[in-house]
Amino acid sequence: MRTQVCIIGGGPSGLLLSQLLHLKGIDTVVLERRSREYVLSRIRAGVLEWGTVEMLREAQVGARMDREGFVHDGTYLAASNRGFRIDFKERVGATVMVYGQTEVTSDLYQAREKLDGVVIHGAEGAQPHDLKTDKPYVTYTKDGTEHRIDCDYVAGCDGFHGVSRTCIPQDVLKEFERVYPFGWLGILSETPPVSDELIYANHERGFALCSMRNANLSRYYLQVPLEDKVDQWSDHAFWDELKRRIPADAADTIITGDTIEKSIAPLRSYVAEPMRWGRLFLVGDAAHIVPPTGAKGLNLAVSDVHYLYNALTELYQDKSEEGIDRYSERALARVWKSERFSWSMTSLLHRFPDQGAFGQRMQESELAYLETSVAAQTALAENYIGLPY
Ligand SMILES: Cc1cc2nc3c(=O)[nH]c(=O)nc-3n(C[C@H](O)[C@H](O)[C@H](O)COP(=O)(O)OP(=O)(O)OC[C@H]3O[C@@H](n4cnc5c(N)ncnc54)[C@H](O)[C@@H]3O)c2cc1C
Repeated sequence: MRTQVCIIGGGPSGLLLSQLLHLKGIDTVVLERRSREYVLSRIRAGVLEWGTVEMLREAQVGARMDREGFVHDGTYLAASNRGFRIDFKERVGATVMVYGQTEVTSDLYQAREKLDGVVIHGAEGAQPHDLKTDKPYVTYTKDGTEHRIDCDYVAGCDGFHGVSRTCIPQDVLKEFERVYPFGWLGILSETPPVSDELIYANHERGFALCSMRNANLSRYYLQVPLEDKVDQWSDHAFWDELKRRIPADAADTIITGDTIEKSIAPLRSYVAEPMRWGRLFLVGDAAHIVPPTGAKGLNLAVSDVHYLYNALTELYQDKSEEGIDRYSERALARVWKSERFSWSMTSLLHRFPDQGAFGQRMQESELAYLETSVAAQTALAENYIGLPY
């Protein structure tokens, strides 16, 4: 088989890139090692920056998001059970959209299907070859048969554990990492959200987040030790602990119920440089991970797609290589700013094992400053709604 851009990974970044390139007349094949059902069962991000919203509209997958998503004008921060609000619209004139990653991915799959886009599921052992030549190709196995796709470029959209990043030689690849000494225990519950906007809570017992997917589907998180196992946490224990950490008025009114998903995710900051090697481009989680505190993971994947899609369009339509030559530099400039924001939100809101009473007071003072300073709120809002591309 031959295509122009072979995309490894059928998560949000791979599907979005494929959809946008298709609309510009550029041919792609997406190789996804899992089934579509498996990809759609992964409960992940939920807050979309406005740039992401615009990109999804440009990809012609914004209709259901515009109907069913929730526009949030602000967010609540809390310290020691007392909350205050930051109004994004008032501070920076912009908002975010709450619409689950599962829905985004589902809309993208449907759009790809409608345009007869080629998405090959169950593609095992994908391996790019000859990336430093002008005739790269990717091999993979499906149902026991080996296949080969010849292409012009390879987009590595295969997440943190994918194969693409490993193709960059060790003496070229620079990795930057911070692993946090705690995880997030997350639940989904078919209950109305406790608040119409997110609540990020700092508490001496640990961080908590009240989020949502829709009017009857809540997503809540608790900071937990990395050693904790999901089955140690009964539903009752989860709700009890959540109520202790969030503002008192929210704890008094929260509606609890059975949980329909419960998982623990470790927190990590990670960046790989460069994001281009020969004819390979890394996109999204394949190149970087952020702790979820700033809601940036999916949004960063979309901003990478923005740079790469424009670069490849310029290349095929205008024969200009400037975009692909500068892809890594442009994407990384934004990645590092989002890494900084995610790290600073994580540092501000979580309980660290070695922070002591002084560290706790520093966090509380920073939150008190945020509560009263227009300048500090503006900076937070500007980063939260998403820096310009
Ligand atoms: C548990 C969890 C919770 C998260 N919560 C949030 C959140 O609340 N907010 C937020 O903003 N972000 C969150 N994220 C991050 C966000 O989900 C990711 O940033 C986003 O999914 C990145 O999209 P992606 O397409 O780059 O990678 P992925 O979504 O990881 O997609 C990569 C795809 O590639 C496929 N693949 C991997 N290897 C291969 C291979 N060798 N061959 C073929 N296919 C392959 C995978 O099956 C997968 O479908 C979370 C992530 C996790 C893991």
